[in-house]
Parts: sequence; structure tokens; C-alpha cells
Amino acid sequence: MLDAGLPLPAHGVFTTRAGGVSLAPWDSLNLAVHVEDAFAKVQRNRELVVAQLGLDGLAFGKQVHGSGVRVVRGLSKKTSRGLDDTDGLVTSVPGIGLAMMGADCLPVLLAADGVVGAAHVGRPGLAKALLPEVVRVMRDEGARDIAAVIGPGICGRCYEVPPSMAGEVEKAAPGSRSTTRQGTASVDLTAGATRQLEQHGVTVSVVGGCTLEQPDLFFSYRRDSYRRDGLTGRHAGIVWL
Ligand SMILES: [Zn+2]
Repeated sequence: MLDAGLPLPAHGVFTTRAGGVSLAPWDSLNLAVHVEDAFAKVQRNRELVVAQLGLDGLAFGKQVHGSGVRVVRGLSKKTSRGLDDTDGLVTSVPGIGLAMMGADCLPVLLAADGVVGAAHVGRPGLAKALLPEVVRVMRDEGARDIAAVIGPGICGRCYEVPPSMAGEVEKAAPGSRSTTRQGTASVDLTAGATRQLEQHGVTVSVVGGCTLEQPDLFFSYRRDSYRRDGLTGRHAGIVWL
């Protein structure tokens, strides 16, 4: 796991592929139940993470590339299965780990004194301004100075898209249009997310690097769709007080 380096009393980590029980192509610390991995193995992986981090439990969202943000006030069956239509989570309750999964999309962790948040940001999330919404909800919950850490995701040199799509994302999230190694149009999720957060007064740092370029460390939907029909696992960003 990579330490996000969030200011205390918040803690944050980004999980890697290492340390779980799932077999290929989900090897080994796959935390997602919706990717055809064995349910019992995913449950075991989640238990291992909870134990390692000393948490009361993890809260998940059913991530739909939307802009839904939910405040978690306690753990329940629903929070462990995943709250509906949720790409952003916020809590001020100590011991609850907010988990947002990715495999190219960015897990983003946010922390202020007494409030933490997590988000799953891909191209649609950037365009729908999910991060400003998470910041708004955190401020409603009493957050003042917010620090964010952007975790591992596909980089602008790898994330090729049609030029028209790069243009659309740039319009919604200025700074996100980029160019691949081959010189074709691409989206730089980290650049777009950084600018969105900074415009809302959030201090930003970046951890982990490119998912597609680090097959031993991270799952990558795009890398693995070339090789095995998109079957791959999900790592996660986890934040807690
Ligand atoms: Zn890359």
C-alpha cells in the first residue's frame, strides 16, 4: 500500500495489487465484487485491508461515473455492499474507511480537520464536476482547509481518445486535454482534476503514477482490455479519521 501522506488526524492509502488472495487476472488484492472475481476472495481481500489498517470497516459506493456524493454516518450492510449511484463519499466518523476503486480512473482522497472524503474520477466525473461537489459536501460538514491527494491513474501520455472527445473534456475541465507519446489526442485526468480542485481552494498532491505503465503494481482496465477482454481487478483509495 502507498501512504497518501494526508495531514493528521486523517489517514489515507492507495492499495496496490499486492497482498491479496485473488487469482489471475484479479491477482491479487482485487477489492471489487462486480468484475467476475470469486465473491469469497474479494470478501477476504477486504477483510485483510480492514485488519491491516485497523478500521471498523469500509464503506463503498456503487460507482457509476456520476456525480452522486453521499455522507456516511455509520457502517451497515448497505455501505459494505456499496451505496447506490455514488462516486463520492464523505464522513466525519472516526474508524470508517471510505473506499473508492479504480483501474485507470483516479481515486482521489480529501481531508480536512474532522472531515474526510473520497472520489472516483474518470473522464465523465471530471466533466460532471464531481470533485467540486465532494468539496461542497465536505464544507457543509464543517471542513475548512482541504488537502487532496490524487492516486494512481492512467496518464496523459497513455490515455488516447478521439480528438473531439479530448475537446469536450477540455471544455468541461480545462487543463485536461493532452497528447500521447504518439502525438495523438489524449486526456490527462490528473491535470484536469488538479485544476478543478485548486480552483476550489484545495491543496493538491499526486501519488502513484500511471496505472497502465505499472502492471506489477496496479490494475488497468485499458491495458487489460487489449490482453484479456477487460477482465481485471480494482485497487482502491481509502481515507479515514
Ligand atoms: Zn501512462
